[in-house]
Amino acid sequence: MSDGNLRRILTINSGSSSIKCSLYEMGEAEDRVLSGTVERIGLHGGHLRFLDAAGRELVDSLHDLPDHDAALKTLFEWLKTRFSDRFLDAVGHRVVHGGTKYCQPSVITEELTETLEEIIRLAPEHLPHELKAIRAVEHHYPQLTQVACFDTAFHRRMPEIAQRIPLPRSLWHEGVLRYGFHGLSYEYILMKLREIAPAEAEGRVIIAHLGNGCSMAAVQSGVGVETTMGLTPAGGMMMGTRSGDLDPGILLYLLQEKDRSPSTLDYLINQRSGLIGVSGCSSDLRDLLRLELSEPNAAQAVEMFCYQARKFVGALAAVLGGLDALVFTAGIGTNSPEIRRRICHGLEFLGVHLDPARNESNASVISREEGPVTVRVMKTDEELMIARHTCKLLGDL
Ligand code: ADP
Repeated sequence: MSDGNLRRILTINSGSSSIKCSLYEMGEAEDRVLSGTVERIGLHGGHLRFLDAAGRELVDSLHDLPDHDAALKTLFEWLKTRFSDRFLDAVGHRVVHGGTKYCQPSVITEELTETLEEIIRLAPEHLPHELKAIRAVEHHYPQLTQVACFDTAFHRRMPEIAQRIPLPRSLWHEGVLRYGFHGLSYEYILMKLREIAPAEAEGRVIIAHLGNGCSMAAVQSGVGVETTMGLTPAGGMMMGTRSGDLDPGILLYLLQEKDRSPSTLDYLINQRSGLIGVSGCSSDLRDLLRLELSEPNAAQAVEMFCYQARKFVGALAAVLGGLDALVFTAGIGTNSPEIRRRICHGLEFLGVHLDPARNESNASVISREEGPVTVRVMKTDEELMIARHTCKLLGDL
């Protein structure tokens, strides 16, 4: 157990081919004292890397990581040589889906993991890995409290009309509804916005989380009222490898006329669509921007991405009845002036006017001084959000 009021919280974010892990010391300050990744799970060249607070490398080693079990074993074997149960206070997990039952961060109990097992089909790319990480902590650090922080929680206050899907009512009762994701990122951005621009945070805000996965949220008076993703993280706008929204008839066509199985469809819409599907060469916008002059398919993928993003900003602004702030975040949102410029080009009718020099330099405010909509670039920090929630729940126990 930590001394005094200092809590040491380990956060775990278990993705499909990597596991990110950080150690926070939460007291008066909130310091990330360690950050690590296990990468290339299931691929050649599995890799464990940890950095200390100053960015110094503590370990950088290659491992055979055929699956998540092997990755978690490697991760915890390394962690256990450094940190005992007594040194740590709790572990916080990012959990993609909380279903209808979990609308806020919760201490992990048998009942909670059973619920996650029941809804595994709603997020088959994420939940199985997250459950494995929870079990690995149980095994290696049986004394520690574990907390689940759900990516769906932020959106659970959306009006019912935004959560409903126009299908027979019985499916709503089974939990077939629009949940939305990236909630920890939205929560962090909103919390920061309250600190730096409280009036804006209380207004009409669209947050565009554009990373490997992409979604947007419409926030009114601090409450998420609409979002682009739906029942699963495959919905909404096109992404690196996911299609985003599809006419349901397309799936029927592929199932019935093309004899595709559900698992090949799953692979098609989650791994082979979006930027990689359209360009045929990469899911990374950096590659596509480099290739667009010589590769028409790469150029078209970039154009479609920006077009779709612009279309969704328009739809969300209509839900909000106007716009006070537009925030770009995540890998693409914070690093690519070119993509931001192309998304915003055509949104002048909404009051979005970029300042080219500010945009080019990734400034924190990239709109013109006199423009009615403040356009911001903000770095997100989902891990810190997990550490905060975990610390708070630990205090409540
Ligand atoms: P994740 O969703 O896995 O957390 P990130 O938010 O870190 O991912 O976003 C990663 C993505 O950001 C990369 O796949 C890449 O497409 C994109 N990206 C990062 N930097 C740039 C850049 N300078 N220009 C365009 N895209 C970028």
